[in-house]
Amino acid sequence: MFKGVNAIEFGKQFKTNEDCYKYLLQIKWGKRYQCSKCGCEQSYKGRTYYYRRCRSCGYDESVTANTVFHGIKMPILKAFYMVFRLTAKKKGMSTIELGNEVGVQQKTAWLFKRKLQAVMKKDKEDKLKGDVEVDETLIGGYSTDKGRSTKTKDAMFVAVEILADGRTGNIALQPIESFKSEELKYAIKDNVSSEAQIKTDAYHSYKKLAKQMKNISIEYSKKGTAMEELHKQIMQFKNWLRGTHHQCSSEYLFAYSDEYEYRFNKRNMRKWLFNDVVERLMNQIPHPYNYLKSLCVYST
Ligand SMILES: [Zn+2]
Repeated sequence: MFKGVNAIEFGKQFKTNEDCYKYLLQIKWGKRYQCSKCGCEQSYKGRTYYYRRCRSCGYDESVTANTVFHGIKMPILKAFYMVFRLTAKKKGMSTIELGNEVGVQQKTAWLFKRKLQAVMKKDKEDKLKGDVEVDETLIGGYSTDKGRSTKTKDAMFVAVEILADGRTGNIALQPIESFKSEELKYAIKDNVSSEAQIKTDAYHSYKKLAKQMKNISIEYSKKGTAMEELHKQIMQFKNWLRGTHHQCSSEYLFAYSDEYEYRFNKRNMRKWLFNDVVERLMNQIPHPYNYLKSLCVYST
């Protein structure tokens, strides 16, 4: 298993396409082979070293079949290098930088990064626990509208765990349609454990929710000093969006907020991220190109 964020180490372990395929072979069939057509667990050598042929039905399967690595438009070594760069760098990279560095067109880099973003997300059962602060914010847009208007901006739900020593634990970010109490209620249910103690501000939607949900308490803002840690996290997310990605269209806010949340919550496990992402890419069926493309115009 490759662990670390050191480019020289990475270069030593992955010199050729073969090194990468062997890594994938280990992930897919290292412990056990099973034919994806008939379930048989016995195999022969396949047509090349990264294929296996089923003893029972004869299906000759590539190590990348049924994985996100299938059909990528570049050598596997470049794909590995991209995964390495995107996971080793604390804040990630724009696809322009990435394309230049790896020597592929921006479009290729863009598409591959979308695939990575699609696996960089927290598992559904990972909900915030303990003391949790909850708020909402607006992202993007250049309108001069004040307040909570979602006409030109995107609404987003934000929650952070506050640890006993006051530092931030895990965070949750989720784009939402509006700041209505129903919408916020679902965002809370999706992201925060029902046993958590939730603190929010005195926005009317929360006041309404506090009547239905016993674990919500309202913190009356003392001129912005309330929920300081949470507001710091919101600022950091916005800075990351601007700094790394320059801009982000509404259609992609889901992907970017998932990516940020994943990176943030795994901030102390950065050296494991390469392997984690490669395993996720191996275990997720590929999104068709048209699906990814339909999501939007290019963003960086
Ligand atoms: Zn078979």
